[in-house]
Amino acid sequence: MNPDSQVNQGSEDPRRGLPSVDRLARAVSERLGDAPAWAVTEAARQVLDALRVELSQGATDSPELEELVERTAAHALELVRPRPSRVVNATGVVLHTNLGRAVLADGAAAAANEAARSYSDLELDPATGRRGNRLGSVSGLLARLSGAEAAFAVNNNAAATLLALDTLARGREVVVSRGELVEIGGSFRVPEILERAGVRLVEVGTTNRTHAEDYRRAIGPDTALLLKVHRSNFEIRGFTAEVGLPELVAIGREHGVGVLEDLGSGSLVDLTGLGLPPEHHVPGRVASGADCVCFSGDKLLGGPQAGLLVGRREVVEAMRKNPLARALRLDKQTLAALDWTLRAVADGRDGEIPTLRQLREPEAQVRGRAEALAERLVKVAASAPALRVEVVADRAAVGGGTLPGFELDTWVVAIQAPCGADRLASALRAAPVPVMSRVRDGAVLLDARTLLEGDDAAIELALVEALSRGVV
Ligand SMILES: *Cc1c(COP(=O)(O)O)cnc(C)c1O
Repeated sequence: MNPDSQVNQGSEDPRRGLPSVDRLARAVSERLGDAPAWAVTEAARQVLDALRVELSQGATDSPELEELVERTAAHALELVRPRPSRVVNATGVVLHTNLGRAVLADGAAAAANEAARSYSDLELDPATGRRGNRLGSVSGLLARLSGAEAAFAVNNNAAATLLALDTLARGREVVVSRGELVEIGGSFRVPEILERAGVRLVEVGTTNRTHAEDYRRAIGPDTALLLKVHRSNFEIRGFTAEVGLPELVAIGREHGVGVLEDLGSGSLVDLTGLGLPPEHHVPGRVASGADCVCFSGDKLLGGPQAGLLVGRREVVEAMRKNPLARALRLDKQTLAALDWTLRAVADGRDGEIPTLRQLREPEAQVRGRAEALAERLVKVAASAPALRVEVVADRAAVGGGTLPGFELDTWVVAIQAPCGADRLASALRAAPVPVMSRVRDGAVLLDARTLLEGDDAAIELALVEALSRGVV
């Protein structure tokens, strides 16, 4: 054996036999040809660091140089890949937080692109040449579409909640039901946001039941707000009671205390026809008389990440003047995409918004897409007779962590492979365009509801690659 090819040359500390970062990086550069030097060096450093730790714990043996080069090359390619990059969402979850939530409409993406690539009248009124209101168009549209007196927008709904609490209740008390002290994915926890806003939390009721009397008893001279929080990622069933927003508003009025609702997933169009609970419809929440309602731009609205606040004029004006608003403000690309999305709703072109289109697509059409995909995959599977590909009806939770308990009829392509579903799913994730699927009852399910144009070809390629690598 060529002594140089073995990393561990001595019998003493195996770490001493590891190649230097430079030597490993050189070998990897030769292998990869045109990979950027920074990525190769970084990958070599990280792989060697990790290996040193493993060796010191006796968790592994020293690998051959060849294996080390291969591992480092793979890691370097991973570092070179732009992030975030495209994946196929075959999970059926229309609003999938880990996959970037709402997909923007082409028009919204084009608007963001144009705002990014040119100077714009972002804060200028071309008619007068004077400074203009950056949010003017968006807040006008939002107010009109929600039926509120005024509106404001910030970076995301967590920021909107923070801004509202800071503006309306800093240094005072906010009353919240124990059933609504929730944690939303990505570390949004209601008690912690309240704390950050300098607000004292007054918990009322119990986890499953909160009554009007609980709120009334909790209101005191220092109460600034009653806060209602939508339980966006779980349901409470069985022996339950909660105080609805209209009743909460009535209690607030009795005592001269404002009401804020963190709605989370709010829609500007009525989706109750799909079976979605009415509380997601923002105009209905505004009509119930809350002082302020906030919701996300990239959930049911189907726009870019943003936190939208709609409510009474004085309340919105106070938030606009809060110095925090400047720290939480929207960037111009997002603003352009949001403006486009709101105009699509205002103009009755909301069918161009992918989130709404996907949610409303009739199951017969989803089935057609599943069948077309299956046809492609059956051809690929012809070379692997042990693969079973079939189209089956299913029901899927389309809201991820945003619409608990809400499911739609859908159609999936189910693939069963001798290697097992987990292995197949992981091979599909390793494809050039990673494919995210559901795994159930020993099958990989590819849900056609969330497939976008071009995804069929990407899935086909993923399966071809998995077969050619002998994974499946
Ligand atoms: C999603 C959600 C949030 C967080 O919204 P982001 O836009 O992700 O910041 C806050 N509150 C509720 C009730 C939510 O559903």
